[in-house]
Amino acid sequence: MNPDALITQVQLNIGVTADGIAGPRTWNAIYEKIFGQPATTTDLDAIIKAIQKMAGVTPDGDPGPLTWTAISNSITSVAEEPPAEPNTGNAGDKVDSRSEGVISSLLPEVQPLARQLVHKAAAAGITIKIISGLRTFSQQDALYAQGRTAPGPKVTNAKGGYSNHNFGLAFDIGVFENGKYMGESPSYNKLGPIGVSIGLAWGGNWVSIKDTPHYELRPAWAKDMPESDMLAGLRDRKARSVSLLV
Ligand SMILES: [Zn+2]
Repeated sequence: MNPDALITQVQLNIGVTADGIAGPRTWNAIYEKIFGQPATTTDLDAIIKAIQKMAGVTPDGDPGPLTWTAISNSITSVAEEPPAEPNTGNAGDKVDSRSEGVISSLLPEVQPLARQLVHKAAAAGITIKIISGLRTFSQQDALYAQGRTAPGPKVTNAKGGYSNHNFGLAFDIGVFENGKYMGESPSYNKLGPIGVSIGLAWGGNWVSIKDTPHYELRPAWAKDMPESDMLAGLRDRKARSVSLLV
């Protein structure tokens, strides 16, 4: 599992926003979970080192995959919220509250597709939640700064406007089994064709780096474009404040 997915998994299990970004809130929540009390310092570096020490990895203040695996193994899952109300499986029906929170960040055209995917997955016996949606340009820039001009490990190579999560068109799902988030599961591959059947593009179909939790609505004008050209088109439309989809 890549560090991003591990961070998301840890965040889901400690009950903070699962954005894959390990900021002060995430580190403090991990600290409290592991030590049973809030940290007495605001020194993030000290907090990270204390957590690394407790998790049994080298306390170098530079958390990589080893640290995240150790953290993931040393925290237990928080209680899951009860399942959403039974529904008729219509695209308009609301899903669980965590997913709805993320769905509200997506473009209105994408929202029913995300809900539909949750319903179709449930009908196939798979529980999913929408765990990541829009990242604003400034959130993406903050993420890009991490490991470069800001503390922490590098987590992305994309600046604001260079990730398909910056436009409200893309979202990531998490598969849940027995109430626990699964970073890896055969269900991700099972769901891909279902997502495609409702009009979404699926990250599992990417040629270079497959991203099986990732779905996006590709604008009609970008149908056969490479990802980088689509992103350029999206940045341009956003700068001109015109519809991203037309
Ligand atoms: Zn994604």
